[in-house]
Amino acid sequence: MVEQTRVAMPAQAPAKPPAQLKAVRGMHDILPADSARWQWLEGCARDLLAGYGYREIRMPLVEQTGLFRRSIGEVTDIVEKEMYSFEDRGGDHLSLRPEGTASCVRAAIEHGLLGQPQRLWYAGPMFRRERPQRGRYRQFHQIGVEVFGLSGPDIDLEQILLTRRLWEALGLTDLHLELNSLGDPADRVRYREDLVAYLDQYRDALDEDSLRRLATNPLRVLDSKNPLLRELIDAAPSLLDYLGSEARAHFDALCRGLEGAGLEVRINPRLVRGLDYYNRTVFEWVTDALGAQGAVCAGGRYDGLVEQLGGRATPAIGFAMGLERLLDLSAPSAADLKDAPDLYLVAVGEQAEARAVLVAEQVREQLPGVRLLCHCGGGSFKSQFKKADRSGAHFALVLGDEELAGGQVSVKPLRGEGAQESVALADLSRNLAGKLGL
Ligand code: ATP
Ligand code: MG
Repeated sequence: MVEQTRVAMPAQAPAKPPAQLKAVRGMHDILPADSARWQWLEGCARDLLAGYGYREIRMPLVEQTGLFRRSIGEVTDIVEKEMYSFEDRGGDHLSLRPEGTASCVRAAIEHGLLGQPQRLWYAGPMFRRERPQRGRYRQFHQIGVEVFGLSGPDIDLEQILLTRRLWEALGLTDLHLELNSLGDPADRVRYREDLVAYLDQYRDALDEDSLRRLATNPLRVLDSKNPLLRELIDAAPSLLDYLGSEARAHFDALCRGLEGAGLEVRINPRLVRGLDYYNRTVFEWVTDALGAQGAVCAGGRYDGLVEQLGGRATPAIGFAMGLERLLDLSAPSAADLKDAPDLYLVAVGEQAEARAVLVAEQVREQLPGVRLLCHCGGGSFKSQFKKADRSGAHFALVLGDEELAGGQVSVKPLRGEGAQESVALADLSRNLAGKLGL
């Protein structure tokens, strides 16, 4: 027993209602009414990825903070402003993962997966402390894909075509592909010099963030979301003019492949992506339908990251898509998805109520895959029947004391599929199998 300290309270002190507990700002519950849509989206992606030979990997939600600093880059929005970092009780510096690539690379190195090419995917929540608004949350969900050990433009092409096929499966029509090449490290060194010289002329116009980045990581200036800098950034030298012959050949081959696949591409020389680890191919799928939060899928090649994190040099390419944004654009309504039960079992009377769960078990035993909701908790026939109807079930099974005594159960169509029927309990499963096409 915990000893309680008694505090003398004035008798007339008004009782304070307990503060209502709420989810953390920017982090949302996915309620049962919505989860069918999530499952539909995840199911579409899972099936499609399996069709391309990808296998799932599940990583922890928490990693050493150093992993993200070293991979995403110190001078990025994510690391500078958005990470949920904390010291745990043992003094370790940990962060909730803001994205999946770093963890996936860490896992692939740690478990020796890199001896042969790997096609991996993962799904789950990511955490970034951003200003919450439509399409931008502090806990959001991604499905991500990473391929290790393949360096040619063929895998870049395959990944992009995989995403196009996914949009088709999801019924998304108004997405367009933006593409750029960040070249190889030596290309970027040359570009960086010219970019700095260019931006230097406009120091007075740059905002505080961009000035800092100009000194530390000038390419990041191109990633600025400040609309006042748009024109200035648009007129900056283009990285594509600096590609060395190998990066150029890679980019050209990818463009030819995309053209051959009939995919319309918008080359965007300002697309640098918000993370430091990319090289060569970078791409984003964008829509105009979600306002400022228009990017639904983004990725690119990161050939240097595995080595940078301590693994043997391994080419790699991946992308991640934002599930909230995809669901905002697509997905049938919950009603269109098969979320409702096939059967709702109603039981009225003492004997019937006592038997209901067992009858339901018998049906489940004999009809694998059936979706049967058994009413529990009693109540009048009328109220139970209302619930049966509201559940969206196709048939109500009505069990009454009298019927039970005669070994019968009534099968009542709830969606206008024929007339009510009295069926022998022994024959129930066969009868239902016919009705439900199971
Ligand atoms: P943005 O430019 O919108 O901030 P980003 O470049 O930071 O996106 P990535 O790190 O590339 O995003 O993540 C891939 C995808 O994850 C994005 O295209 C987007 O669909 C989704 N995403 C990123 N951040 C959020 C967020 N805070 N809330 C919801 N979805 C997000
Ligand atoms: Mg961002």
